[in-house]
Amino acid sequence: MNPLRGGCQCGAIRYELSHGPLRCYVCHCAECRKQSASAFGISCVVPRTALHLTRGTPRFWSRVTDTGNTLDCAFCPECGSRLWHQRRGAIGTLNIKGGSLDEPLDLGQAIHIWTSRMLPGVILPHGAKQFPREPDEPRGAP
Ligand SMILES: [Zn+2]
Ligand SMILES: [Zn+2]
Repeated sequence: MNPLRGGCQCGAIRYELSHGPLRCYVCHCAECRKQSASAFGISCVVPRTALHLTRGTPRFWSRVTDTGNTLDCAFCPECGSRLWHQRRGAIGTLNIKGGSLDEPLDLGQAIHIWTSRMLPGVILPHGAKQFPREPDEPRGAP
């Protein structure tokens, strides 16, 4: 498999993934709306060992989540694009921000969460897996 590649908007930060996403979430919560400055956030769960930086050094901004965990959020210091989120202390996975991937993501199988906060006018694909809030199943860092 060719590695998946991605990076920030200006190109100062580049990465490769040696493993494809295990699953992708589209989150309609207010935090993801702020984070993306758009309608929702896209999180692709990958093994931590799959992420390889090939250019640049990201900066981190951190916040405490509703569940009391600390989320470390990597972004480009030049252009500000968010690149990935990792829950502090979680060793297994991290969440790549979906829009940072070069190859357009197929969101056909994405799991929609916090649909109770979804913006009016956003329409989910027919049959999309969806949860009004956070699902019970573990999903790594939000
Ligand atoms: Zn950048
Ligand atoms: Zn969210």
